[in-house]
Amino acid sequence: MTATRRTFLTAAGCAGLLGLGVTATTGESETTVSRDSYTIRSGTDQETTVFVTSASESGPTVMVVGGVHGNENGGYTAAEKVAQWDIARGTLVTIPKANAAAVEEDSRIADGGVDLNRQFPTGEEPETELARAIWGVVERFQPDTVIDLHESVGIYDGDMVGGVGQAIFSSWDDRAFSDARAAADYLNDNYVSRDGYDFTVDPFSSSSNEPTGLLTHKAARDTDAVAFLVEATSDDTALDTRVQWLTKITQQLVEEDVLTSSDGGSGGDGGDDGGDDGSDGNDGGDDGDNEQNEAPVARIRTTPSDTTGGALERGDTVTLDASPSSDGDGEIVEYMWDTDGDGSFEESGETAEMTLSTCGRYRVSLQVTDDKGATATDEAILSVK
Ligand SMILES: [Zn+2]
Repeated sequence: MTATRRTFLTAAGCAGLLGLGVTATTGESETTVSRDSYTIRSGTDQETTVFVTSASESGPTVMVVGGVHGNENGGYTAAEKVAQWDIARGTLVTIPKANAAAVEEDSRIADGGVDLNRQFPTGEEPETELARAIWGVVERFQPDTVIDLHESVGIYDGDMVGGVGQAIFSSWDDRAFSDARAAADYLNDNYVSRDGYDFTVDPFSSSSNEPTGLLTHKAARDTDAVAFLVEATSDDTALDTRVQWLTKITQQLVEEDVLTSSDGGSGGDGGDDGGDDGSDGNDGGDDGDNEQNEAPVARIRTTPSDTTGGALERGDTVTLDASPSSDGDGEIVEYMWDTDGDGSFEESGETAEMTLSTCGRYRVSLQVTDDKGATATDEAILSVK
């Protein structure tokens, strides 16, 4: 395994690119990240790679899966991006192309195969070699959080009839549901601009209801993992957009698990974890400092509201408003902005303005501090075509 520390440079579509950013919020700490990979179903047409990224700082284990259905390109493309992420702590296990044979054929189910996402019965051995191999990865790493990325036709409206797109289905615990809700809100505020395309949240259906045998259901029921099944719609939506939605949702869902260091500037985020998983007291260890204080929530509202995907033009001014931020048990006493993507927060004020003189993709971050000194961050992407 090789230790690496990388800074992500955003893709340059034109000259004069200014934006740069890091995926992980590592504060001042020097986290090192090591990367490893291995294959399952080796030597068969189902052979696929499991990517394992470990941070030097211990923390939760997150597993992200894509390509369970081979024609859901957004799912496996997003998972491939996740596999390359730097993390601030813990372990990130990714299987981007869970059903590689189906991906190869660009079909939901590989020729002669079965629907992989029906082969994980609760309380029983998975039903196919491939499902057993994937479940073996779950048993090996025992993830605290499992996320499965999918696409669907249609928009979910409470039943499966019209499709299940634009939905985050979560395991039943309060933490999973509130994390899913927060991720959906964040996406809807920052990345969904079309009417009717907002993400909704629903808990997993009960084990007596079809469909059964889903990977995320088994992970939640058999291992107590927090689990999410994320569905983006493929209706009239470009691949780039689907990938962005699925990637940003994953980022939001795992931000506190593996993208935020327990020390450094964003340690206050840990306060959210306090009483969540009573079954697993180990996770609470980092939170001692904030025991008496609920961490604030950072939220950026932009004007115009749609700033992604090249929505902005050179010379546009964007207003950044931090007033949707909140603190449940006190008040926010400081708003700081990083508008040049260098990782330090140099501008203060509840609002900030940016005039974008060059094209490219800018990442703006907000850090809020509550009256007890706990912090939280949010970010917005400003994309100038
Ligand atoms: Zn699917």
